[in-house]
Parts: sequence; C-alpha cells; structure tokens
Amino acid sequence: MYPFTFTKPATTREALDAGRRGGRYIAGGTTLVDLMRETVERPEALVDIAALPLDEITVTARGALRIGALARMADTAAHPQVRTRYPVISQALELSASAQLRNMATIGGNIMQRTRCTYFRDVTAACNKRRPGTGCAALEGINRSHAILGTSDACVATHPSDVAVAFAALEATVHLLGPDGERSVPLADFLLQPGSTPDREHDLRPGELITAVEIPPHPRPLKSGYLKVRDRQSYEFALTSAAVALHLRAGAIREAKVAAGGVGTVPWKLPAVERHLIGERPSDALWTAAAALAADGARPLAHNRFKVELLKRTVERQLRIVGGTA
Ligand code: SF4
Repeated sequence: MYPFTFTKPATTREALDAGRRGGRYIAGGTTLVDLMRETVERPEALVDIAALPLDEITVTARGALRIGALARMADTAAHPQVRTRYPVISQALELSASAQLRNMATIGGNIMQRTRCTYFRDVTAACNKRRPGTGCAALEGINRSHAILGTSDACVATHPSDVAVAFAALEATVHLLGPDGERSVPLADFLLQPGSTPDREHDLRPGELITAVEIPPHPRPLKSGYLKVRDRQSYEFALTSAAVALHLRAGAIREAKVAAGGVGTVPWKLPAVERHLIGERPSDALWTAAAALAADGARPLAHNRFKVELLKRTVERQLRIVGGTA
C-alpha cells in the first residue's frame, strides 16, 4: 500500500467539496480497495460517503422506482418493491459476487465497478485502460472471458456488472449531483464504450456523485427475470447473461425489454430482439428467431468465439422462461 488521506464527511455538501478538491469517493470499498492494493489505482485522497443519506429505495409519485446509490446490493435485492415489480433486478443482484460482498457493496459502486480483465489488474501488462497508449495485452493474449460486442482495437474488456444489465433492459436513468448541481443521464449514455479512449468509462464529471438509479414507470406490468451462465455456479462473473422483461396481453407480447451481459464492453441492450417480439404470440419458434438476432455485430476474438452461440442460447432460454413456454 502507499500513503493516502481518508476523510468521512458528515453531509453531502462536505462530500462534494472534498470531491471537488480531487477526493475519490468510496462507499462499500469492494472494488476500489482491491485495486489500490494491487496499485492499479492510486488515489491520494479517499472520501468515505457510506454514511450519507443516499440509501433509500422508494416509488416516486409518477411510479418510478428510485434506488439510492448507497443502497446495499443485498438490501436492494430483498426490497419488497424490487422483488415484486422487478424480479430481474433481484435475481441479477443475487447471482452476483458473494453474500459477504452483497452485504457491503452499493448500487452506485456496482455500476461503477471496473473490468475484471486480468491484464488490467496486472500492472506489468500492456493495458490501454490502465495506462493509455500502452497497448492491449488481451488482443493477443487469453481473451476467453472478453467482450464480443462494443469492442475497439484499443480495448475488448467486458463490463462486469449483472445488475447494470437489468438496469439497461429496463432503460434506467442515473441521477448525479456535482459542484454544478443535479443532472440525470440515461444509463445507456452514462457507461461509455471504449473506442479510442478506454480509460474513459463513464460520463461522470469531476466531483460528481451518483445519487440514485431510477427505473422509469412501466404502466404495463412486466414479467421479468435474469439468467446468468458462468463457469461455476457461485462467485463468478458471467460468460453470458440475459435480462428479459415482457408484458403479455390477450396472448401477444405488447412490451419487450431485453439486454445481455458478459458479452459487451457495456451492458448490451438488444433492440433488434425486442422489435422482433412486439405484437407476436409466444412460441418456441418466436424465441429462437428473436434470439438469433442477439449477436448481430459481434466481433469474437481467438478464444471467445463460443460466446456468439452461447449468447443466442442464453437469450432464447430466458425468453422461453419469462414468456411462459418453458
Ligand atoms: Fe486493458 Fe482493455 Fe486490453 Fe483488458 S482488454 S488489457 S482492460 S485495454
């Protein structure tokens, strides 16, 4: 470890002041402390925001579900409003990490967590995300777990979050508070694909805090769920995953929300799959045809070609489960 300062502001205003002076926010600490130990990250000033009043989970007057950024993963998964309205969120959280980590880690930290690319965490390896301009060891290295969608010549790392995939499917918005006031950004715009600047992972301005993630109102009740495929059934990141939410009325699909994880540099929304489902009646043939569109645009690497077929099968299986024909 190396020397750094640690402050624990009593109010959100004090935290923002510390953030404006260059302090790095920390809450559950389940990612950042690891990265500091490995010297992948070397913040000089930590600002502990865990005690700020940003952990509430509420339903707003217009029917949106608002999850405070400091709500713990375990508490969010167990919350009655989350469980009954959006099982896809509860399931994504419960399939993440370990019980101990879910008791500490927060929703804001979860969507901000950094990639599990092994070369990113090995300070001796070339990595454009960790040190811009040094190259990408994963391109010619072991890239079995890496992304097939949204990649660039500079970086092919996956976004590791499960719950962010559920949020992407449900078209969540990220609420932010910074020195210049409040703003809101769709999650789809908040998390950035690598392009030529993989070190820039999100649209967070200097000193800004995530205050909440909001799921917009869905007036038509959604049936939803999350499927995660991984090398072992516990404490492992996704090879592929699928978040699916459907509204069926009079035997037809009226609304479809689908996103995939483990395959994209960001949580990967699947609009072509969604469009294929709308207005159709559930059937095995429909799930297969829709899921066949899931890997459109994929650019597999030497060791992860299997993800193209696995992604289609994951989406198909989860459509069948949520659509009620399983
Ligand atoms: Fe770094 Fe991205 Fe390449 Fe991994 S895939 S080594 S994070 S540049």
